[in-house]
Amino acid sequence: MPMPRRARTALAVLLLFAASPAFAAAASASAYDALAAAEARVAAIGFRLTTANADWCPVRQPQFGWIWGDPRLYTADRRAEALRAYGAADPDHAFVAAFAPGSPAAAGIAIGAPVTAIADTPVPDGAGEHPFARITAIETSLAARPVNEPLALQFGAARVATLVPVPGCASDFRVEANAKAGAVADGRLVLVNQGLVDFAADDQELAAAIAHELAHNILRHRARLDAAGVDRGLGKQFGRSARLFKQTEVEADRLSVWLLAGAGYDPAAAARFWTRFGQRKGRPLFQAGTHPNWRDRVAALETEAAAVAAARAAGRPLRPPLIDAPPPLE
Ligand SMILES: [Zn+2]
Repeated sequence: MPMPRRARTALAVLLLFAASPAFAAAASASAYDALAAAEARVAAIGFRLTTANADWCPVRQPQFGWIWGDPRLYTADRRAEALRAYGAADPDHAFVAAFAPGSPAAAGIAIGAPVTAIADTPVPDGAGEHPFARITAIETSLAARPVNEPLALQFGAARVATLVPVPGCASDFRVEANAKAGAVADGRLVLVNQGLVDFAADDQELAAAIAHELAHNILRHRARLDAAGVDRGLGKQFGRSARLFKQTEVEADRLSVWLLAGAGYDPAAAARFWTRFGQRKGRPLFQAGTHPNWRDRVAALETEAAAVAAARAAGRPLRPPLIDAPPPLE
């Protein structure tokens, strides 16, 4: 999928600078600063969506409001530049790359400080593992803890911070340095491309895109599609597999509007985002099988936003669809 225009312009500027060795370092540093800024926005939106909607979610986890970082994510020649964007001086230890304002992480953590122990257990050095393995292990073990249990983190040799988490819908968040306007949800993680953060007109639209991915996780779409035996290869575009993928897209769209409402975002932001996303230049032509037509999506999102407005006007508590008993995938 080609990049949105703004990302293309930014890339052209970077290439221009990169052609001159004197500017190469400065241009790279600013690219990592932009990534760190995108992570801060996604951390804030993810924390708000998961914690405000916690009572609706069938599976919950402690939320701290952070996104993790790891020096191992960067190739050796870029590592020092990348770590500068986080103020991280230690090349060996995982660190918190971003946190939501007002979150538990914001109460005791410095961005980029080396995390040496979690709950009295030393953080392994991660040597020889896939670059993402260490922070995936950290996120997974923390998600399994009781939702309210205080957590001690040790930084460097001595400093310890104790954080009290907030119960939230189960999901962690990350940003990938990828210019394509996309995102994925694998059941436990919402991975947002930097290109999608750039594409969103504002935080309301970005929240709409993230709420769609979070809805996939809440509705356990990845596991349920796998259990239904769908074809994730070329056959995805056809027949039963395509129909089931499309069903999960429709469900995620519907729930996303209620997640926005529950977190105090504008429920109409979903229709705004998916209209612009559907109309963007260079959108792929090959999702016809697995994704509804964007005009149908927007119409359904507007119907859902109207249902939220009707419930509010009548003074009824909001009750999101699907979340308690999603229809079977068959
Ligand atoms: Zn989707």
